[in-house]
Amino acid sequence: MSENMKNSMSVSFDSRSGNEALARMVASAFLVQADPTLEELEDIKTAISEAVTNSIIHGYGVKDQECGQGQVLMELALYEDCVTIRIRDEGCGIEDVPKAMEAFYSGDASGERSGMGFTLMQAFMSELRVASAPGEGTTVWMKKMLSER
Ligand code: ATP
Ligand code: MG
Repeated sequence: MSENMKNSMSVSFDSRSGNEALARMVASAFLVQADPTLEELEDIKTAISEAVTNSIIHGYGVKDQECGQGQVLMELALYEDCVTIRIRDEGCGIEDVPKAMEAFYSGDASGERSGMGFTLMQAFMSELRVASAPGEGTTVWMKKMLSER
């Protein structure tokens, strides 16, 4: 455990769409101790929601591929002035990460998605890093600075 880490947790769950709400609720419950502002909490929940949904529908959701189901891992670590969140899947992975992170880009051929997930994560969190490769899954790492309470 790193020096100024106050608390940490991890949870892993099946890649089912209902578990996106579970991830948000677990994160909220964990963050109570940090006494975040309502806005901070909403920002974090939105970012988690986008990342987990991506793992479920893009990471594991692609039909006719080997990566049709699996586990999503969510880790939270609370520090004095920030929270870090890691969301990991072992799904299909992303071929071109910078392109996937562009606003309005969606790899979903159905045309039903707006391609704003990464843009929202970027906007609502203080830092966003995405590591991914085809066949190796995707890891999204985010940090949110918390105002002094
Ligand atoms: P929206 O989030 O607005 O519904 P979207 O999911 O297509 O639309 P982003 O969340 O920005 O948009 O993601 C962009 C693209 O990156 C996705 O369409 C998908 O091709 C790819 N992608 C994102 N996350 C993953 C993941 N965990 N595994 C595989 N591909 C992913
Ligand atoms: Mg998305």
